[in-house]
Amino acid sequence: MRKRIVAGNWKMNKTPSEAALLIGELIPLVNNDNVEVVFCVPAIDIPCAVELTKDTNIKIGAENMYFEDKGAFTGEIAPGMLKDAGVKYVILGHSERRQYFAETDETVNLKVHKAFEYGLTPIICCGETLKQREQGITIEWVCMQIKIALLGLTPEQIANTVIAYEPIWAIGTGVVATKEQAQEVCSAIRACVRSIAGDEAADAIRIQYGGSVTGDSAPELFAMEDIDGGLVGGASLKPDFGRIVNA
Ligand code: PEP
Repeated sequence: MRKRIVAGNWKMNKTPSEAALLIGELIPLVNNDNVEVVFCVPAIDIPCAVELTKDTNIKIGAENMYFEDKGAFTGEIAPGMLKDAGVKYVILGHSERRQYFAETDETVNLKVHKAFEYGLTPIICCGETLKQREQGITIEWVCMQIKIALLGLTPEQIANTVIAYEPIWAIGTGVVATKEQAQEVCSAIRACVRSIAGDEAADAIRIQYGGSVTGDSAPELFAMEDIDGGLVGGASLKPDFGRIVNA
């Protein structure tokens, strides 16, 4: 049985003092031991988020990291820094990182390896544009992204990875993929993992859907066979996140 995982992606929102208020508000709403709950927060909010959630079921994640251990990379954050600060998860390859910060499948792969080296669990994002969906290449595109991201990992590492399928046309738009659309791609991702890492990894890996999920849409999405939870942007900053976790 795969444990469900619901992660919030706060993006570039909430100062440390605002983060403390929001965390205090969300703690009682997301208290559910059947679900792994992760708050992926801006780097500057990590110390206070780790401190405030230390006796709760919530784990803290980062929204990005660099693929080198340390050195002259001004403005970047190293995996060892995240680990030392108490971070457990790290989002890699979010479409906004790809669009605005030139992230590629190759740099995502380097980061995934580094994350495992430091005991961080990667949440690897993939997803197609609207144009790619209209061209009928969604499955090929997403499977290619996943194959490159997972290159060189052991089946055990792949089993411990989280993949977030996030159609770009659904991120921050209020347009949610239908449960059938989301299931079709998540099932293709699992088949792709099966072909490269075997049955055990494919049955263990957790695949999230992300893209305008709310408390209203979460129950039917999370009921689909290959959807093991969600990566949530906008709604993770509101009490609605509690409804999503409990869905
Ligand atoms: C995201 O940024 O990962 C995301 C899914 O955002 P939203 O839920 O706001 O569409």
